[in-house]
Amino acid sequence: MITKSKRIGELPPYLFVEIDKKKAKAIASGISIIDLGIGDPDLPTPQIIIERLCQEVQNPANHRYPAYNGSKEFRKGISDWYKKRFNVSLDPETEVLAVIGSKEGLAHLVWALVDPCDYTLIPDPAYPVYRIQTILSGGKVFNMPLFPENDFLPDLRMIPADILDKAKILFVNYPNNPTSAIAPIDFLKEVIEFGKRHNIVICSDNAYVETTYDGYVAPSILQIPGALDIAVEFYSFSKPFNMTGWRIGAAVGNKNVISKLSIIKTNTDSSQFTAIQHAALAGFTIADEFLVQMNNIYKERRDILVGGLNSLGWLVKKPKGSLYVWAPVPKGYNSVSFSTMLLEKAGVIVTPGVAYGSNGKDFVRMSLTTPKEQIREFIERLSDLNLGL
Ligand code: PMP
Repeated sequence: MITKSKRIGELPPYLFVEIDKKKAKAIASGISIIDLGIGDPDLPTPQIIIERLCQEVQNPANHRYPAYNGSKEFRKGISDWYKKRFNVSLDPETEVLAVIGSKEGLAHLVWALVDPCDYTLIPDPAYPVYRIQTILSGGKVFNMPLFPENDFLPDLRMIPADILDKAKILFVNYPNNPTSAIAPIDFLKEVIEFGKRHNIVICSDNAYVETTYDGYVAPSILQIPGALDIAVEFYSFSKPFNMTGWRIGAAVGNKNVISKLSIIKTNTDSSQFTAIQHAALAGFTIADEFLVQMNNIYKERRDILVGGLNSLGWLVKKPKGSLYVWAPVPKGYNSVSFSTMLLEKAGVIVTPGVAYGSNGKDFVRMSLTTPKEQIREFIERLSDLNLGL
């Protein structure tokens, strides 16, 4: 008998496996599925990025192992983008590191900084990787609850002093997955001061920084004066450039943290294919028009979805950023019972909020990465259910 490691045994059950099973069953019974579950852009990667990949693949220099920290060209490209987009100056040699998607970088950051019994400070709900990797590394999670009445911003004053002494990383992620909340600049300032005061590394997961609506432009946490003393940020090409399959992003910020992350990565992977790194940079050359175009598409879908929900009496606000609508479940349900009912009775997949932490237990997440016709159909199916919302 092959036994799993104790480490794996510590992990909470993976809810998405259950959802996939239910989805497969629904498809087998002939139901046409509308999938608002995954946050995976449905539109193609821009042609200029694909063409650049085709050129880069022809270059034999790129067929060899990539540079551990990412190519010089890639690191300079990221540094130039941070200057142009956020007015943040980064040294490409020491303050920029290529990652194989931000998921990989976030996971390895935990391994670079957290010893057994150290704490990480994690919003609840949150993208599950922060929590899972803390558990795998033997660390402990301190949950910072996010409530609608606090605009889904954690209250840093509620973290006990003994936890602060043992805490190594505080994670923030705005525009947020799953709540779609955005953070005012004053909150980011407070986070940086807090990190410096308690010597806790601030990790800003900025996967949705380019995905915003209604004129809102999301900042980098590195814009806050002094942030480079204590913070790192993850930039991802996945969502803005429809590149989730390509696995490319960057860690930027405090050079001591970047160098520790680099040690783990050097001993674990050999960075991303250089051709992919260079192709991704082509995205920046069209970013000004392309991102506006993409955000207009998501905004139209958001308006159809939120407008439709509101017309049925399900009162939900329009998010200013991210790819999600985070909605409290109707009375009498929790996130799992509601999403199961939607799948079985209407063939619609939404993500139960509890997948992101116990504070998500009365919410579901709906993704905007589905064509508007299907979103309209979802509203019709929801209306037919007569939920008395
Ligand atoms: N952070 C958040 C908050 C996310 O939602 C995601 C993807 N769903 C990631 C990181 C990972 O993105 P990537 O494709 O860059 O690994």
